[in-house]
This record gives sequence, C-alpha cells and structure tokens, in this order.
Amino acid sequence: MDLLRQRILKEGIVLDGNILKVDSFINHQIDPVLAYEIGLEFYKRFSDLKIDKVLTIETSGIAFALFTAYHFRVPLVFAKKHQGKNMLEDVYCSKVYSYTKEKEYTISVSCRYVYPGDRILLVDDFLANGQALLGLIDIAKQAGASVLGAGIVIEKGFQPGGKVLRNQGIRLESLVVIDSFKDRKIIFREDEK
Ligand code: 5GP
Repeated sequence: MDLLRQRILKEGIVLDGNILKVDSFINHQIDPVLAYEIGLEFYKRFSDLKIDKVLTIETSGIAFALFTAYHFRVPLVFAKKHQGKNMLEDVYCSKVYSYTKEKEYTISVSCRYVYPGDRILLVDDFLANGQALLGLIDIAKQAGASVLGAGIVIEKGFQPGGKVLRNQGIRLESLVVIDSFKDRKIIFREDEK
C-alpha cells in the first residue's frame, strides 16, 4: 500500500530493539483518512469472505479494525488488556507476551461478544513475533469461532510471526512488509502489494 509506505518513510523512526515508532499517524496520533483507507484496503483484500466480526486487541489495533468493520458492516470487538470491574462476567482469556513492553499480560473478551460459529477477521497494527494474534486465535478457538484471516498494517518480515501464522494456515494480508532496519534505514519487501 503505497500511501502507507510513503508515510512510514517520511515519519517512521527506527528505535533500538527493532522497534518502529510511528506515533505521528498510528500509535499515538492517528490519521483518520489513512485509517479509513487501511480499513477499505482490508475490506477489498478479504471481500471474498463472509465475515461476522472483526477482532483486535486494545489499543493500537482499534482504529484500523473499526474502519475494517465499518466497510464490512459488522461489529468490531477488541480484547481488553486489563480485566476491569465491569468484566466480572464470563470471559475468554489468553496470555500474550508483549514484544515492545517485554512482559506477559492477559487479554480477555466477554463471552457475550464472540459466539460459536462466528467467522472472524483479525486486524492489528503490527506483526512481530505473532504473540498478539496467537492470543486472539486462542480466544476465538475457546469460543468455538473460526478465524478466516488476519489483516496487518505493518509486518516486520524479519521476525517470526508471519511465518508462524502462515504455517498454521492463517490467511495473512500485510499492507507493508519490512525486511530490515539496516543502519536504521527502513527496507521494504519488494513483493508486497
Ligand atoms: P507480536 O505479538 O506480533 O510480537 O507484536 C505485535 C504487537 O506488538 C502489536 O500489537 C504492536 O502493538 C506491538 N509492536 C510490535 N512491534 C512493534 C514495532 O516495531 N512498533 C510498534 N509501535 N509496535 C510494535
């Protein structure tokens, strides 16, 4: 997705630990026009599927998942990272190790919002080691729902998540794939769409 690639080149900052900082349009300030276009692109790429629900994790995936859900005209559900007092109801939980925060946390989704037989599309901002998506897949499994695909805004192709998920048969669509941050320069994979 050329619009996204140009924006990453213009505003992305490579930090230590192979972390890409894109706070000016994805992770802190969000560009709604770009987020809308990203949602539309996911809709186009998965338009052959009958989706019941889009599922993501709070916080950064929500904007892109919301616009995707908007185009599919289905609900967006986001997994919560902290179990608040208002989540004392029945929930599906999974443990996720955070690549950026270097700690494990629990994600949960109320049993009221994911049902057996639901056809789910996952959406997230980044794919690194795949832990976040594996947690969401685990929750979908517990609910008896099926994951039909996953839309990723930025895949870091030099980390194992993409391979792990594709090997599990997950249909993965990444809008850009980064091959390396050599000398803090962002190198994109040539064969991305
Ligand atoms: P994974 O679970 O695939 O290891 O990591 C995905 C999650 O970690 C994403 O939801 C995202 O929030 C965060 N993440 C991983 N790599 C990066 C990165 O390079 N930059 C930013 N901003 N977030 C990242």
